[in-house]
Amino acid sequence: MLSQVVELIESKHRFMITAHVRPDGDSLGSSLALYWILVALGKDPVVIMRDRVPHAYRSLPGAASVLTMPEVTEMYDGAFVIECSDIDRPGLLGLERQHVINIDHHSTTALFGNVNWIDATASAVGEMIYNLCKALGVTPTKEIATCTYTALLTDTGSFQFSNTTERTFKIASELVRRGVEPASVSQALYYSYPYGKIKLLGLALSTLEHDASGQIAWIRVTREAMDLAGAAEEDADGIVNYALSIGDVKAVAFFKEVEDCSWRISLRSKNRINVAKVAEQFGGGGHKNAAGCSADGDYDVVCDRVISGLKDAVLGVAAV
Ligand code: 5GP
Ligand code: MN
Repeated sequence: MLSQVVELIESKHRFMITAHVRPDGDSLGSSLALYWILVALGKDPVVIMRDRVPHAYRSLPGAASVLTMPEVTEMYDGAFVIECSDIDRPGLLGLERQHVINIDHHSTTALFGNVNWIDATASAVGEMIYNLCKALGVTPTKEIATCTYTALLTDTGSFQFSNTTERTFKIASELVRRGVEPASVSQALYYSYPYGKIKLLGLALSTLEHDASGQIAWIRVTREAMDLAGAAEEDADGIVNYALSIGDVKAVAFFKEVEDCSWRISLRSKNRINVAKVAEQFGGGGHKNAAGCSADGDYDVVCDRVISGLKDAVLGVAAV
């Protein structure tokens, strides 16, 4: 819980911070906000990720100092693991030897840390980091504020998803007061795309399909499409939301080919439809309205299984 995290930070000095593979806005924003909080306290922190910082987040303060490596070789006084469902999600070898502090806002998270601070009511881990900042008596600097704001903005879908609460806006307001420039954060995140990302979007949208009811839709991105568009894997991020923007659609799947016959799957839904449950059937997880998983096999087979999971989820809610 929070008081244990505060106590640990106050009594120790050298920390590492990590988050899940293919880091997103919340995991990177929260990790870097925590990094700047520790810097403000005169501590010695380092952010270590298995995967490199995606293009969209490279202008975040501190992004250039993130170390990308597959293994943690040194011992730290504490290792913060941000937004991870289990100890393997960061994809870092040697992490299990550290004194782990698990900080997450997913209700399904395993209590894998030596310290576990889970708050499923937080819209983003960024909200929790903001509370931690206050609890430590640190005045948010512009760096802390910008990283935290990025976490909030991205995990709430620009303050549009159902996890957006009064508290989210209150914190966002305080962060703006502390120097965040909302327009420049949005510009960097949503108006600085590489050309290939939009070419890929065009190819992806042409694969859009729906089921007989029109309530379930799906999109696919193959390696061939990525090559054709000159796009990187991270350029596929966010495409899933276009399928969900259709009025009649209640649940969607997005299939991204990572290797031959190996798929990353993003699931999204509206209102009460729980796609985390569907993701869990494939060994993944997430939130009720946004979840993900991986699956191996021929596209037709994988797609059929996922879509039938989504049908059950939609029918389950209709039956209640
Ligand atoms: P995305 O579709 O954007 O990759 O992920 C959406 C949500 O599902 C995020 O909250 C993310 O943490 C979670 N998620 C995505 N993939 C996985 C996975 O393989 N395992 C677990 N436990 N959660 C996942
Ligand atoms: Mn999050």
